[in-house]
Amino acid sequence: MGPLRGDLLKKEVGIFTFKDLLEYFPFRHIDKTQITPVREIIDDTQWVQVVGKITSVEIVGEKRGRRLVANLYDGTGELELIWFQGINWIEKSLHVGSKYRVFGKASFFMNAPQISHPEIESVGEAPVEKSLYLEPVYPGTEKLKARNLGPRQISKLTYMLLQLLTEKDIPENLPEHVIAKYHLVKRYNAFRQIHFPVNQNEYVAALKRLKFEELFISQLRLGLIRYKRNSFSKGLLFNKVGDLFNQFYNNNLPFELTGAQKRVLKEIRKDIGSGRQMNRLLQGDVGSGKTIVALMSMLIAADNGYQSCFMAPTEILARQHFESLQSLLKNIPVKVKVLTGSSSAKEKREILQATAEGEVTILTGTHALIEDTVVFKNLGLAIVDEQHKFGVAQRAKLWKKNEVNPHVLVMTATPIPRTLALTAYGDLDYSVMDELPPGRKEITTVHRMEYARPQVMDFIKAQIKSGRQAYIIYPLIEESSKLDFENLMKGYEEVKAFFPEPEFYISMVHGRQKAAQKEINMQRFVKGDTQIMVSTTVIEVGVNIPNASVMVIESAEKFGLPQLHQLRGRVGRGSEKSYCVLLTKVKLSADARQRLKILCATNDGFKIAEKDLEIRGPGDIEGTRQSGILNFKLANIIEDKKILEAARFEAEKIIETDAELISGENQILKNFLAFQKGKTMWSKIS
Ligand code: ADP
Ligand code: MG
Repeated sequence: MGPLRGDLLKKEVGIFTFKDLLEYFPFRHIDKTQITPVREIIDDTQWVQVVGKITSVEIVGEKRGRRLVANLYDGTGELELIWFQGINWIEKSLHVGSKYRVFGKASFFMNAPQISHPEIESVGEAPVEKSLYLEPVYPGTEKLKARNLGPRQISKLTYMLLQLLTEKDIPENLPEHVIAKYHLVKRYNAFRQIHFPVNQNEYVAALKRLKFEELFISQLRLGLIRYKRNSFSKGLLFNKVGDLFNQFYNNNLPFELTGAQKRVLKEIRKDIGSGRQMNRLLQGDVGSGKTIVALMSMLIAADNGYQSCFMAPTEILARQHFESLQSLLKNIPVKVKVLTGSSSAKEKREILQATAEGEVTILTGTHALIEDTVVFKNLGLAIVDEQHKFGVAQRAKLWKKNEVNPHVLVMTATPIPRTLALTAYGDLDYSVMDELPPGRKEITTVHRMEYARPQVMDFIKAQIKSGRQAYIIYPLIEESSKLDFENLMKGYEEVKAFFPEPEFYISMVHGRQKAAQKEINMQRFVKGDTQIMVSTTVIEVGVNIPNASVMVIESAEKFGLPQLHQLRGRVGRGSEKSYCVLLTKVKLSADARQRLKILCATNDGFKIAEKDLEIRGPGDIEGTRQSGILNFKLANIIEDKKILEAARFEAEKIIETDAELISGENQILKNFLAFQKGKTMWSKIS
């Protein structure tokens, strides 16, 4: 093709090479492999190809009803053809008595079949050939169309290209046994069939093969990154479990660990005892008990003579971690300190010094921990709680706080669906805590309209009378938004009217308060001096008040699914039955309605995450947006879950047995990966 059109293909759709053209896939096909006799057209909306002679052409109607109507007779019946646009031009090209091939979607009017705006082409007297394959339809742009590079022309180019190629040009890249096991078509055939299948089955088979290849290669790549890091990264060796851990385990552990907690601790111990650096993501639903896992890991670090830090996204949470660590570690000789933005200058100085000298064993805090002034004597383990609140760059600063990178454990309570974790975090080691401590009661979640607020308040009253506490949450869309703030204040006044002092006391926490004020208000609620906590989403993560049994979320339609689930996780932590009430206005978008319905139906964070992925698509899920990892050409991690699992399984098997890709078949993979390299950006997430 000439340079002008060539440039246009590059600019408009990124086709630079034959390979690009081959990988420019059709989004559907149209079936012109059959010629249908008019008599046999029975279904509405059936795509048909008909060959016959035009028997009449006329323009009917006035103004907006003006249309061109032609009749086509094929020996079995009459088919009406209608055009509303391009009337004059088309009329000129239709000749009564001549033979035409038409193609389009049939419909019925007064029991007679018709096609509006059919594709039409004049054909000679000789018998008309059927197309031998389904015709591909390619995505295009207006500019391409204008330059005579519409879908039809792209189809012609691709067809020509495939004529030139032999099996040698598109060699197989998957191992024989994988092809056989999953009944995949050969690579060369797959490319032919995805463009020009002779029937639907051929297309489906080609699609399956190419999706498998795409997912398999990406899994292999991620697995190899993980493998390389694991085999070459030098890490601190924590090879003993010592007195501190054992003392804690034997004397202080307040409950039996869940199976999931035990499993995850084992995974962590294996990592940190291996001599390589741990880089592990721990996902556990809200309330699954991540804190204790963090603590026990930090005790192992201490047993091996290393310091740990434990970073939380909010002041309240950091202080709460501090309190609970201190009480859990009663009588155990480890020094725990907390450092936040609101620590006093004197306090800060003392903590920094003690940390630098190695006196502090565990330092908890907010992102104040990553400041350059914080120097450790020997940081061995960095734990980040509620990972999604921190940016990648922020976290990376922690890693640098020791000569040899400390072990890293990132904990998140926003479950990520397995399919997404496999693809987006495939190069990280990750653990899942999918079990809640025993004795938890399901939280009953209901959706109520605003006009039911009085009844909801009565319900809270009844709960308080039986000794419980309640949260009432207002949305905070932007940290300092004036409107949000006013809403909160209005809400607070309303709540106060329902719950007058001295019978009831209310705490309020929001983003405009000073940290100390927040802390006081929070503590009053923790101690039970107040029965109601009115708050913005500052309590979203982490806080643990087992006596709170009701959560009301105002304007619940404004929150996303994971956020609502997180919020709800603040109740249901004690032995009492808990409730979550989602209050909304009456008029809701379909999406919002769906979110609320899901939340009322399940308490399972992983199920909710799957649904969230379905509703929003992978591109929007936190942390993956910039990764580029999810840009598959054909595969879709929601629909192709099964293929992904199979691809993952096979890729893992190869890495386990021959990670250097030395064996004959794997050599082919190695070459293919090398060939592909440079095209794909594999940004590491953590
Ligand atoms: P999250 O995973 O949301 O951070 P936490 O670590 O705050 O959860 O734990 C939630 C609550 O569950 C805490 O009160 C904690 O003491 C309790 N808990 C944790 N593990 C267990 C267990 N194995 N058995 C009973 N209670 C537990
Ligand atoms: Mg937590």
